[in-house]
Amino acid sequence: MPAPSSSDALLASLGISRIALPVPFADAGGPVNVYALEDDGGWALFDCGIGTEEGEAALRAGAAERSIDLRRCTRLFVSHGHVDHYGLAQTLSEESGARVFIHPADAPKAVGPDGWDGRAHLYRAFLLRAGVPAEQLERLAAMGRFTGKYSRRVDPERALPLADGQRLRFARFEAEVLHLPGHTPGLVCLFDAEHGVLFADDHILARTSPNPFLELVGEQPLRTRRALVHYFASIRRVLTLPVEWVLPGHGEPFQDVRPLLERLFGFYARRQDKLLAAMDGGADTAYALTQSLFGAHDGPRLYLTLSEVVGNLEVMEDAGRVKRGEVDGLERWARA
Ligand SMILES: [Zn+2]
Ligand SMILES: [Zn+2]
Repeated sequence: MPAPSSSDALLASLGISRIALPVPFADAGGPVNVYALEDDGGWALFDCGIGTEEGEAALRAGAAERSIDLRRCTRLFVSHGHVDHYGLAQTLSEESGARVFIHPADAPKAVGPDGWDGRAHLYRAFLLRAGVPAEQLERLAAMGRFTGKYSRRVDPERALPLADGQRLRFARFEAEVLHLPGHTPGLVCLFDAEHGVLFADDHILARTSPNPFLELVGEQPLRTRRALVHYFASIRRVLTLPVEWVLPGHGEPFQDVRPLLERLFGFYARRQDKLLAAMDGGADTAYALTQSLFGAHDGPRLYLTLSEVVGNLEVMEDAGRVKRGEVDGLERWARA
């Protein structure tokens, strides 16, 4: 089939409707997309939007405009466990009876009771070791608790797992589930190889580099899940696919993904060079390096920038460019 010339034609030919919902996050890359996919008996949704009043109103208005009856949702797919992607899943599941599909590595973020309070002390300990001043900790550690404003948690009996390689059939196309950890550990994309269409959610965005969120795994010793190391591997996997169109989690569909990804590698390479230069200037904790690169921040902005720095340090550690050590209870980084 010749490639459709516009994203509207492509979406229409595949029975896909895109509904954009406003999000209150400046760094998200624009409104979040819910994709309604024609399915046997109704519509499957790829991503379920943010659970704010404005988000829910935009989804309902967008669905009504397109004659999509949300009570006839057949399956609810959650690309990853961020509030702007699963926020309305529970509500939509209650209304339609549809099950909520999410990868097991991200399920704890969205399904069942919130385990945040039980893990907050680990984050405090990690951040202290990274050099974050004690007075910043409470605000940072409380961030994990704010998700309730934007989402409802999903009942475990409504949830089903998604796995890499799973094939999904919709009314007008088929897609494969790709597990592409990085932005989060359980992030999945859908790929329709026949039409070259990648539902990329937050794995690939046109205007912003998807932040590799700092997340800890297990208990002691304190270990991160090496978000950016995984992210690069997942990007390399996408580079092996015949992608014609990207349907992102935020913003308009776009083409020409290859140069975008190559620019992304270049962007990170420059950032890593800046980190090495900051080390030469005497900054050696992740916090000091973050201040040196991004200036002084606190709250969410500090967490995002610190995530970015730790992710890049881990990539350079893997490449043998930097090493870590411990002095006076602080983790300190130096050129290898
Ligand atoms: Zn996300
Ligand atoms: Zn997002």
